[in-house]
Formats: sequence, structure tokens, C-alpha cells
Amino acid sequence: MAPVILHAIILQATSRSMIFRKCATCKSRIVGIAHNHELRSAGVLYYCVECNKEVDEYQSNYELPMTVSVLNGEKVQNIVAYDRAVELLLGCNANRLGELMLKDTAILDELEEQLIGTRCHLVIRQEKKKNKGKKNDRTIVEAIIPANPLFMPLFANNEVESWEP
Ligand SMILES: [Zn+2]
Repeated sequence: MAPVILHAIILQATSRSMIFRKCATCKSRIVGIAHNHELRSAGVLYYCVECNKEVDEYQSNYELPMTVSVLNGEKVQNIVAYDRAVELLLGCNANRLGELMLKDTAILDELEEQLIGTRCHLVIRQEKKKNKGKKNDRTIVEAIIPANPLFMPLFANNEVESWEP
């Protein structure tokens, strides 16, 4: 199916869960299991089910669920944006946002506040998936184009280096 462009307003963006981590070895999703402040992975110990071991080296990726208002507010739609789309909007990749989070724990809340209400054009595609016989269609965002031509990526002027003590 050809991509569709939607004129939308972001109503909700779930920034709390927008970063997910993959095992550096096998690239499967890892889960946080314990806190240990000695670790460089932000004091969280991760476990990889595939490798069957605890991992301290991982790769971060974006998965940002959003609720948008479309058709002049007549319809509300749930969408999900991944790496490239989120990166362009924020001006930084998931690894970098992870580093910023360590220094400023409120950063995700601030980000969410800034995203909500943003008018944008969304390039979307439908992903049809069946999960245990149940239809599980999702709307994937290929690109988020802010409607305001003066829009600046949220972290454009926020180099990681400047956050170093
Ligand atoms: Zn692994």
C-alpha cells in the first residue's frame, strides 16, 4: 500500500517508554532486571533471553507511540514512530538521548510537553500483522514533518558535550 500523508496534531506521546534496548551481541530486545549503580548502563542490569545472560552492552532504539488528531479533529488515531522518524524530529539518536537522560531525569517529561500540540504532516504506512489469529494492524510513521517551517529539532542546540560537568 502506498504511503499516506496525514495532517495531524500530536495529542499524546508516550516518552517514558520511547527508548528500547537491544543486546549488542544478538540484537534482540533486552529487559532491565536489577539496579546496580556500578554499571555504566545507567545503574540498570539488563538480561538477554536469547543469549541467556546478563548484558551490560547494548544498543538503544526509539519506539514512540503517539496519539494524533486527524481530519480536522474528527478522528483520533494511534501511531508508532521508530528510529529515523523520531531522530529527525528530536535531532538526536536514542543512544544520545539515553545519555542526556542520565544527567537530567526530567528530560522525557519536557520532551513530551514539547511534542504535545505539535502540528505536523505524517507519512504513514499500515502494517498488517496477525498475532495468534488476532488482527493486529499498526500504523507506522515513516516521517514526521512539523507544519511550522520554523520548527527546530528539540535537541538541535543541545550537544551532549555541553552537558558534561
Ligand atoms: Zn543477546
